Amino acid sequence: MTTTTSTRTRTGLALREVTLTYPDGESRLTALDRVSLTVAPGEFAAVAGPSGSGKSSLLAVAATLLRPDSGAVLVDGVDAGALGDRERTALRRERLGIVFQQSNLLASLTAVEQLLVLESVRGRRPREARRRAEELLSSVGLDGAKQRRRPHQLSGGERQRVNIARALFGDPSVLLVDEPTSALDHERGAQIVRLLADITRTHDTATVMVTHDRELLGRVDRVLEMQDGRLAEAGAGL
Ligand code: ADP
Ligand code: MG
Repeated sequence: MTTTTSTRTRTGLALREVTLTYPDGESRLTALDRVSLTVAPGEFAAVAGPSGSGKSSLLAVAATLLRPDSGAVLVDGVDAGALGDRERTALRRERLGIVFQQSNLLASLTAVEQLLVLESVRGRRPREARRRAEELLSSVGLDGAKQRRRPHQLSGGERQRVNIARALFGDPSVLLVDEPTSALDHERGAQIVRLLADITRTHDTATVMVTHDRELLGRVDRVLEMQDGRLAEAGAGL
């Protein structure tokens, strides 16, 4: 599979009739029920819905971290279900940027190092990689001194910015962000959403942000509603 940045076409993310179940005692719990979704490059979509409605499951399937029971996940037109494990890992590394609900920054590393830690698999030259890491961190609002701090020396909002910069490091086509504002006050949460809107334009990503905070939806292009594993455009009814 050829997935270098020079040859790929960016078409964004498509989910087609995706169903996902989890084991639940003797039976199965349906977390995603025939979910379809298309997000184009440069489009910022939000998925809202109550806790337990399936939002994180949707992102895990879109991130190719969970295989659905049925249906298809396409990233830049590549059907993730048709790939073997190694190819799917390569697809994830080269085309997907993921910001998880739980921050998974490494306690002993500075902000710059959080971005560089995976660099050995990408094959950029070290000096070039460091320059790119510093540029990305600056672009998300972390200046030189903060770039050399470890996670415990940064605020929650700043840590979230490091997570976002790290997700952008591989120049992803698709950016998946789970509840980026849940640990932040309203103003800082709104700043993160504005940042994600700007990133969607400047990096031309197909961005999906999960949130349960409806007050933060002013800056997104589209709002989808998740309820009991079903997804619909906001206002369309389920
Ligand atoms: P949300 O992110 O909207 O809170 P989730 O996708 O985390 O929703 O969960 C959707 C449903 O699937 C919930 O009922 C949850 O309890 C269940 N669920 C999530 N992960 C698992 C799992 N690994 N095993 C079993 N059930 C799960
Ligand atoms: Mg969740």
